[in-house]
Amino acid sequence: MATTEIAQERRIVTEIPGPRSRALQERRGRAVAQGVGSVLPVYVRGAGGGIVEDVDGNALIDFGAGIAVTNVGNAAPAVVERAAEQLSRFTHTCFMVNPYEGYVEVCEALNRITPGDHEKRSILLNSGAEAVENAVKVARSATGRSAVVVFDHAYHGRTNLTMALTAKNLPYKQGFGPFAGEVYRMPMAYPYRWPTGPENCGPEAARQAIDQIGKQIGAANVAAVLVEPIQGEGGFIEPGAGFLPAIAEFCRANGIVFIADEVQTGFARTGDMFACEHEGVVPDLIATAKGIAGGLPLAAVTGRAELMDAVHAGGLGGTYGGNPVACAAALAALETIESGGLVERAREIGATLLNRLHALAEKHDVIGDVRGRGAMVAVELVAGAGDTAPNTEALAEVVRHCHSQGLILLTAGTYGNVIRLLPPLVIGDALLDEGLSILEDAFARL
Ligand SMILES: *Cc1c(COP(=O)(O)O)cnc(C)c1O
Repeated sequence: MATTEIAQERRIVTEIPGPRSRALQERRGRAVAQGVGSVLPVYVRGAGGGIVEDVDGNALIDFGAGIAVTNVGNAAPAVVERAAEQLSRFTHTCFMVNPYEGYVEVCEALNRITPGDHEKRSILLNSGAEAVENAVKVARSATGRSAVVVFDHAYHGRTNLTMALTAKNLPYKQGFGPFAGEVYRMPMAYPYRWPTGPENCGPEAARQAIDQIGKQIGAANVAAVLVEPIQGEGGFIEPGAGFLPAIAEFCRANGIVFIADEVQTGFARTGDMFACEHEGVVPDLIATAKGIAGGLPLAAVTGRAELMDAVHAGGLGGTYGGNPVACAAALAALETIESGGLVERAREIGATLLNRLHALAEKHDVIGDVRGRGAMVAVELVAGAGDTAPNTEALAEVVRHCHSQGLILLTAGTYGNVIRLLPPLVIGDALLDEGLSILEDAFARL
């Protein structure tokens, strides 16, 4: 199976987006619902490594990885080969009708690589939101309790339950209610904006959350605490040290299921296979998706056997969940992550990003905070020195410049003032450096 090698070089031959992309964008307006947005409407012809090629012949540097999905790269050779082989044998039977080995193999792999050496079980699904919903179903069924605790700045998806779990109204929730009940939101350990300073943030935030859970819900009524170990859409908020261990310990002491939403942080992204490992936290259930299958739609819940197996027969499932082609892709992606040393590569990328961004922050007062781990790094823009008011104007200018130069860059944050960097873990150093130079230039132009 010959895959087209994509030259690992930025190449800009038209304005961005070019004429063909603009024509497609016009056509799209007459066919695609307006509610679906696109960060940068250059229409894609091919992608691989750290490059996305568009229909006008431009080659852009990819600092987005399709929102932390193509960790192993786009059309990664091993993924293409294994998925194509599966594609030619059978495309679907529905695991609930006639099962197949690939599904079992992916579950075995997830049980092996997720934190903790306890007995585990997994279930496969189609999307991150579906994984989070199923984790909550399992927790409620196993505990016989209904309350679910989530945090400020959380993002968990766009279905009815996961909208309720998500913090931010616009654009995710506006007009889409009423939302699912028994969801309670607690303060998040956000070091940069913690009133008494980042060093106090973790323990204080945990104490506040635990106190409020006790007073507002009653620990005995809580089925699950659900948290992203580094918040994604919320702005790459890495909770203050000690926060996650304290919350996990509180859950253990009160029979509450601790669910880690590692949909964005999983599969080597943060320089660990899973972000929970950083502080040695072992979640009871872990929801995964995005980076799991090199771009094919797949998601999973993995967790303690006694919780997962508490659900009655037939209580979990779905028509497409664990599609055989997606499973084949996942097995190839996991093998690529492990044999390709991508956990270590994510740490290297992180060191490069943090080095240059910390230096950049010295020069520009609008950079309030640089944070993140591995290849999941963010820059938070503020009004200036000593003024932490969110600066969305500077953000828009920086992003506009980067996009015009062919650097794919995403934003995030409750206040919409965070630039997030999520390069594929197979990006080369030259492209990484060039992308950072474009970003530096964008700040110099402000
Ligand atoms: C993207 C994301 C989701 C939702 O995943 P979908 O596949 O878009 O449904 C849930 N949680 C986190 C942390 C995410 O980043």
